Amino acid sequence: MAGFDWFWNAMGASKGRNQKQSKKTVEQANSLVEQLSQLTDAELADFGRAHVGDPAEFLACLGVASERTLGLTPFPVQSQGALRLLDGDVIHMNTGEGKTLVGAMAATGFALQGKSVHVITVNDYLAARDGEWMRPLVEFFGLTVGSVGENTPREERRGIYTCDVVYGPVNELGFDVLRDQLITRRDDAIQHGADVAIVDEADSVLVDEALVPLVLAGSVPGTAPQGRITQIVKKLSAGEDYTVSSDGRTAFLTDAGATKVEVALGIESLYDEAHVGTTLVQVNLALHAQALLQRDVHYIVREGKVELIDASKGRVAQLQRWPDGIQAAVEAKEGLAVSEGGRILDSMTIQALIGRYGLVCGMTGTAVEATDQLREFYNLRVSVIEPNQPLIRFDEADRIYATAEEKNAAIVEEILSRHQTGQPILVGTEDVAESEELAERLRQADVEVNVLNAKNDAEEAQIIAEAGDVGRITVSTQMAGRGTDIKLGGADEADRDRVVAAGGLCVIGTNRHKTARLDNQLRGRSGRQGDPGYSVFFVSLEDDLVVSGSAGDTVTAHPDGDGLILQKRVSDFIDHCQRVTEGQLLEIHSQTWKYSKLLADQRVIIDERRAKLLDTEQALEEFGERAPERVEELSDLDHAILVQAAREIMLFHLDDGWANHLAVMDEVRESIHLRAIARETPLTEFHRIAVREFKDLVNSQVAQAVETFKTVLIDADGAHLEELGLARPSATWTYMVGDNPLQKSGSSLLRGIGDIFR
Ligand code: ADP
Ligand code: MG
Repeated sequence: MAGFDWFWNAMGASKGRNQKQSKKTVEQANSLVEQLSQLTDAELADFGRAHVGDPAEFLACLGVASERTLGLTPFPVQSQGALRLLDGDVIHMNTGEGKTLVGAMAATGFALQGKSVHVITVNDYLAARDGEWMRPLVEFFGLTVGSVGENTPREERRGIYTCDVVYGPVNELGFDVLRDQLITRRDDAIQHGADVAIVDEADSVLVDEALVPLVLAGSVPGTAPQGRITQIVKKLSAGEDYTVSSDGRTAFLTDAGATKVEVALGIESLYDEAHVGTTLVQVNLALHAQALLQRDVHYIVREGKVELIDASKGRVAQLQRWPDGIQAAVEAKEGLAVSEGGRILDSMTIQALIGRYGLVCGMTGTAVEATDQLREFYNLRVSVIEPNQPLIRFDEADRIYATAEEKNAAIVEEILSRHQTGQPILVGTEDVAESEELAERLRQADVEVNVLNAKNDAEEAQIIAEAGDVGRITVSTQMAGRGTDIKLGGADEADRDRVVAAGGLCVIGTNRHKTARLDNQLRGRSGRQGDPGYSVFFVSLEDDLVVSGSAGDTVTAHPDGDGLILQKRVSDFIDHCQRVTEGQLLEIHSQTWKYSKLLADQRVIIDERRAKLLDTEQALEEFGERAPERVEELSDLDHAILVQAAREIMLFHLDDGWANHLAVMDEVRESIHLRAIARETPLTEFHRIAVREFKDLVNSQVAQAVETFKTVLIDADGAHLEELGLARPSATWTYMVGDNPLQKSGSSLLRGIGDIFR
């Protein structure tokens, strides 16, 4: 199959040159379209297959195929975007520019080069939508396409993953990798990786969610704080009995608080040998649940269950759980039945998952702002693609107030006055609680409001699709409904003219976000394809961003009669606070990745060992060397049965060892700042221990396996591991550890892991 030699040539060139080259190629492609339009479908598909190595010919062919199959003639900027994707870049293309088609064009190109492709989306809904929408284009060239989602049955997944192009949400793709980590026969595998990842909403996946661990757990009894401890902790008061760190990530008992707990429990000291590893852990879990996790901000309670809210999306994270201690502690706090706990069998960050693909590219409306992270963490370049129609949205300067109360009043006033003109309004809030509060205020003013949040995620896309209709007010948390186009005048654009006359979609942000990139994601929902539009953010000097980003600096403001603060000095100060916060986030990402990276590398070694054990007779060969008598004893057994028995024994101990290793290293990470020896940084110390423990794992798992091989009953039914209490977990489940404030392993936070990053 012809390769994209031309793109390798371009690799060394500057971004500007690449773009110039791409534009020229697109022009050439345009001049070929008429000629290609004469071909029959079959001829056109053949032409595409033959010319996959010739960019202009291939693009022209894709364009004609897209028109025939989808009724969409790619705009030149879309063709240019597809070229940049094929070149391995992250492209910056605004909302509504048609990135779905661009991704599918590139996927088709990669697939025709003989590569397997995963198109990675932020949720199930988009994977299913885009996979179906783009199917005719991909299939036109005789390629296969499918999509997976949370509810896709296991048996179907296997078939879907054999498709040339697979659409899937990032967490499901990761969970399938983890689940395959439990197989003991190669035929049971459902995934086999892919050559290329095309990541939609690339900044969300590659930056915002990068370090969210995907976890595979198996069932064991839970470790909830006792009801009594929960009750005692409930009576503690903030400030006096415990303090919360300024970033809201950690809570600590004060001496007074510790004494109260000790008296209530009738124990000498929480910190002595007998209690440090048990009672204190439970107290800390209960305190964490009590002080740091707020109902409707971090989780909601629905049908008697705690469902955690994914902070980066503001929606309920389906099938996601916190680490068990915290989940149980929150359940106890809410007076709910405490669910069964589990043991973590394996886990992997999204960043590590992405690292498994040979080639990564992606698209988003906010790539430029993530340039540093994409380069540092993925070695990816950003290509900016101009909008098809010039952007005419008006972005007003922030409206700044001294207090949150004044700000909130002004927001309501602004919404009500714009609403009278029929202009549709999309309000972006910080969290679910804020959404609910604002909606309530608006309802009191007798206007109809659609609230998009974790509680109604099923209708999310539909509500968002209508957000541009006359007089609509939609209140949404960040990211909810992302990927769904907001058309002016409603999904059918029936009232487009009226909405255009009213100024297009108005976007109001009730806070500046932690990064300018997130602000821009919100603004970007307005002004698509040259539509008129407007955006403004409301800020108060009491906002979290300002309080925590100011690092003790203050600014004096002089509000006018309406409480509005107009001094440039103040708005500069707010930008400064945001930059400080951005810097902190980048530093945390960078530091946290350094911890995860080593484990990710070790995981690769485990993967290789697993593959060897699955695909060869290595397990039996190793036993043959170490326990020849036993092999001799079993020589009457069918060879295939013996091979499989040996394999299962070896895999059991390998997997068990790996799960233990993860647990040990999690402990180490929690306590590393205490252990770090003079002159060694915690990270160096962590690495030293991880390497040592891993060596141990490699040796001991074989030794243990040999012991098991010698003692376990092996007959025509294979190895009876369960008789030695060595059964694999009967039930497994997967979850994502929620984003902030639990960005790192939840239990780590309990003991102040945040501190080692300062
Ligand atoms: P993005 O992901 O960039 O925000 P989408 O892929 O969701 O945008 O597409 C937005 C809208 O633009 C969709 O309704 C789609 O049908 C339309 N669209 C995309 N490409 C074209 C095209 N070449 N011609 C006309 N409409 C297009
Ligand atoms: Mg999109």
